[in-house]
Amino acid sequence: MRLSPISIACPQCGSKDVIYSCQPTCCFNHVCNNCYTTFELETTKVGESHEAFAMPPDPEASSPTASCARCGEAKVFAINDSEAAKYVCVSCKALLTLSFTEISPG
Ligand SMILES: [Zn+2]
Ligand SMILES: [Zn+2]
Repeated sequence: MRLSPISIACPQCGSKDVIYSCQPTCCFNHVCNNCYTTFELETTKVGESHEAFAMPPDPEASSPTASCARCGEAKVFAINDSEAAKYVCVSCKALLTLSFTEISPG
């Protein structure tokens, strides 16, 4: 399985120009550079990964991120070769789905 950094589109306007504006130690507030909507990302555990994967490079500090629903680490990556939009925590190997929360249109 191949992993890549989380890539999301703004829930309000669909723009992919979304930046993470805070630190994992504080909150998961993201902002859309196009319409200035702010939102947070939240994960839900849906299973366990047993597949081997290569450790992906660390994403940029401003790229979208979320914390693992199980262990709380902000080490969640998208699974490239999965048909469903699935994510995995590289820290504890929980399989996750991603959803938007606290959406506040700009
Ligand atoms: Zn937007
Ligand atoms: Zn985890």
